[in-house]
Amino acid sequence: MDIKPFPHKLWLSSPTMHGEELQYITEAYQTNWMSTVGENITQTERLSAEYVGCRYAVGLASGTAALHLAVKLAGVRRGERVFCSDMTFAATVNPVVYEGGIPVFIDSERDTWNMDPVALERAFLLYPDVRVVVVANLYGTPAGLDKIRRICDDHGATMIEDAAESLGATLCGKQTGSFGHFNVISFNGNKIITGSSGGMLLTDDRDAADRARKWSTQSRENAPWYQHTELGYNYRMSNVIAGVVRGQYAHLNEHIAGKRAIYMRYKEGLADLPVTMNPYDSAVAEPNFWLSCLLIDGQAMCRETRSDTQASYVSEKGKSCPAEILEMLSAYNAEGRPIWKPMHMQPVFRENPFVTAQAEAAPVDEDIFARGLCLPSDNKMTPAEQDAVIELIKRCFA
Ligand SMILES: *Cc1c(COP(=O)(O)O)cnc(C)c1O
Repeated sequence: MDIKPFPHKLWLSSPTMHGEELQYITEAYQTNWMSTVGENITQTERLSAEYVGCRYAVGLASGTAALHLAVKLAGVRRGERVFCSDMTFAATVNPVVYEGGIPVFIDSERDTWNMDPVALERAFLLYPDVRVVVVANLYGTPAGLDKIRRICDDHGATMIEDAAESLGATLCGKQTGSFGHFNVISFNGNKIITGSSGGMLLTDDRDAADRARKWSTQSRENAPWYQHTELGYNYRMSNVIAGVVRGQYAHLNEHIAGKRAIYMRYKEGLADLPVTMNPYDSAVAEPNFWLSCLLIDGQAMCRETRSDTQASYVSEKGKSCPAEILEMLSAYNAEGRPIWKPMHMQPVFRENPFVTAQAEAAPVDEDIFARGLCLPSDNKMTPAEQDAVIELIKRCFA
């Protein structure tokens, strides 16, 4: 197979637009609701609440802003420890620190690559006073959310679900973004649907939704002048961005079907190689397949070493490693990425505690980070282009 560099870059995940988005943006323009008030925001909140199955939705400027308000609603105080997913995007945990909280990182389970409920139980033994848990659904695969919610309830803890990557994924038929007391989705440009940016806070607690909405618009009190009894934020969603999200909702299920097809095509195409795909339990979970990832078998890893900012490797027949595959993809104008580097390995969090399922066990996270990578998973990638990507990966193992 003769492969030439792709003329257009094959992205990990880029926005896929359809036309309705422009119609709703134009409506905002023509009616002059070029603001953080308007029909697109109202409708996007309604669509989000209905789709996910939460009573209330608050449109915000970003998923990170939504997480920040969720952490505030959970009442995290200065110096308070909070259990957080370890292998995730930093935005899952940074808002805990904005409020002066101290993230305590929880190792992942092999079955979903998400927070290990066994490690979480152990963390409650070590830190029985903890009152808040932040759990993320990595790459669109649901964590063991039912188990984690039960553990939180047993310990009287508030659960914040970071469903930024997993909109549309279900566990036992229930949508992700509905398991926590406070839940977050993101409409960042690379997510399953996008507004170019934007986020949503979801909850069944009406009072909490009202407070978040007030905080997000500078905490104005009901008075003739600007009256403030609480600290405020400029976190509200724009009516223009809400128009993009509103148009995208009509295509969410189609985006998921496309991502699913990409995952299955990789799974089939890579079946003869010493690799596995990012796992999920098909008996209970239906991911949204936001990103397709692969994990190289331990005995098929060539030697790769990583400093804080660079990777190098020694090529070996029959073996490969993330750095070699990423270099190969990049040479052909395709984007891949290492797995999220675990938070407990990040210099900024070097002082923070980290809890594994067993006292002396090697962290699962570090192993997945060492052997895993994300593949081009863009919905606009053609089957022929994906076949070429698969062939390039095969060459790395030749
Ligand atoms: C994208 C993302 C966020 C942040 O969302 P933004 O809208 O970009 O602020 C938070 N958590 C996870 C896991 C994400 O992937």
